[in-house]
Amino acid sequence: MSCIFCRIVAGEIQAEIVAREPAATAFLDVQPLADGHVLVVPRAHVPAIEDMEPGDAEALFRLVHRLAGPTRAAVRAEGSTIGVNNGDATGQTIPHVHVHIVPRWSGDGAGSVHTIFKSGTRRPVAEIGAAIRKALGTSADIQKGLPT
Ligand SMILES: [Zn+2]
Repeated sequence: MSCIFCRIVAGEIQAEIVAREPAATAFLDVQPLADGHVLVVPRAHVPAIEDMEPGDAEALFRLVHRLAGPTRAAVRAEGSTIGVNNGDATGQTIPHVHVHIVPRWSGDGAGSVHTIFKSGTRRPVAEIGAAIRKALGTSADIQKGLPT
């Protein structure tokens, strides 16, 4: 087992663990972008969100939800940026899904998620929406809203 996150989950490598649940573990990033930078990882070694079992994904994001407030409170942050680098092209360096919770303060100099993208879209939004609905196997009828 060479994956550093698997080894942290297994207790083979020391980490500053802040929460541990059966299907997800949270610990402080060893190269924090800010005080209180937490990583939340699933127990299962899975490279990308779309490869996760649905129950594992639910457990992972339940723990993110559980940690968001206390992490913010612990370092008296004004907010947090929560993100996932999902796949090699995104700069994901460890191929084990991990959610970053990075505490933020107004004026901390870091931008929003929008600032990491230099280019805009190239295809019409409606075309992309149709392609995603097709890939999901959902009908265009969902655009109409729920019956009241
Ligand atoms: Zn792993």
